[in-house]
Amino acid sequence: MKIYKAYKFRLYPNDEQIILIHKTFGCSRFVYNYYLDYQKKNGVKRAYDLCKNLKGLEKEHEYLKEVDSCALRCSIFDLEGGYKNFFAKRSNYPKFKSKFTRQSYRTSCIRSIYKGKEYSNIEIDLLTKYIKLPKLGKIKIRGYRNKDKIEGKIINATIIKETTNKYYVSVLVEEDLSVEKVIPTSIVGIDLGLKDLVATSDGVKYVNEKIIMKYEKRLKRLQRKLSRQVRNSKNYLKTKEKIARIHAKIRNYRKHYLNDIANEIVNEHDIIVTENLRVKNMFKGKIKAFNKRLSDASFSKLCSLIEWKSKIKGKYYYKIDTYYPSSQICCHCGYKNSKLKDLSIREYDCPCCGVYNDRDINASLNILLEGLKLHYDLVSLA
Ligand SMILES: [Zn+2]
Repeated sequence: MKIYKAYKFRLYPNDEQIILIHKTFGCSRFVYNYYLDYQKKNGVKRAYDLCKNLKGLEKEHEYLKEVDSCALRCSIFDLEGGYKNFFAKRSNYPKFKSKFTRQSYRTSCIRSIYKGKEYSNIEIDLLTKYIKLPKLGKIKIRGYRNKDKIEGKIINATIIKETTNKYYVSVLVEEDLSVEKVIPTSIVGIDLGLKDLVATSDGVKYVNEKIIMKYEKRLKRLQRKLSRQVRNSKNYLKTKEKIARIHAKIRNYRKHYLNDIANEIVNEHDIIVTENLRVKNMFKGKIKAFNKRLSDASFSKLCSLIEWKSKIKGKYYYKIDTYYPSSQICCHCGYKNSKLKDLSIREYDCPCCGVYNDRDINASLNILLEGLKLHYDLVSLA
């Protein structure tokens, strides 16, 4: 099984390298925007043909030759990807890139063999902590302290300057993994909620972290401050950078937290069952749009983490479509209690069988049972 992993390192370029990185950002953006405009006027072309056209553009604009030519080609393929997503109705029509947001460019890894020795334009040395990148040469990196080698084949590298003014490089690596499916001995159902982020059929709950709320409060205060300051003044830009830093902190914190939850769940169980979020959302009542967006993003991130970790560990992951509200049905007797439409009832005794139920854990048990049915249907088919 081929799997893809992204390794993200902090990058410490010197002054000369910073200048070249910025030139490459500019040139990649120019090429992207140029061909977006070109295709708006002349109709959509294949990236392959646009790359041929790029040669003429490079003659017209000599400065394009100063930067990594792979990056310019990647820009064209990114644009093609944008159009493909648009035609498949996955996203909006591609937009022009601005220089006032997060900056990045991607370059692909090219290997060659010369006199029996293999050469590559992207190389990572985790012992000396350097990365070799096309045109830029060696740059100091930080990250992955516990690793001394990256296994697998490097596919590409993306150089990024975040709005926090820090530089990063994200390296995509292809790894060949032989995974054998485990013989399942344990199963868990997972209910995704707003009050508790996750409730499992084992009775474990993962709360929405308070620390994130603390950051969010600070964020709101800074945003009010920003709105009173003179646009693009020195203090305005300072506040803006502070805001970007807090955004990054929240992002990182959430990422680590979700990763920890997914690790724990996948390490401890062989069959993992969650609800299909699209179906789940039909039953959600009035939730503040902001909170909903945030939790939706967390849920889908968590589910994709669980899916990926299950895959590489040979475990089973099922998303089930519950076309009934799983939290209203008692998992012991199957009685449907419509009083539970009221989301404020967190725990109750079942009026039919008298068993004490915790709302979210009861829901996760129902999810487990559905998943178990599905698993045996699939196993008996195979
Ligand atoms: Zn009952």
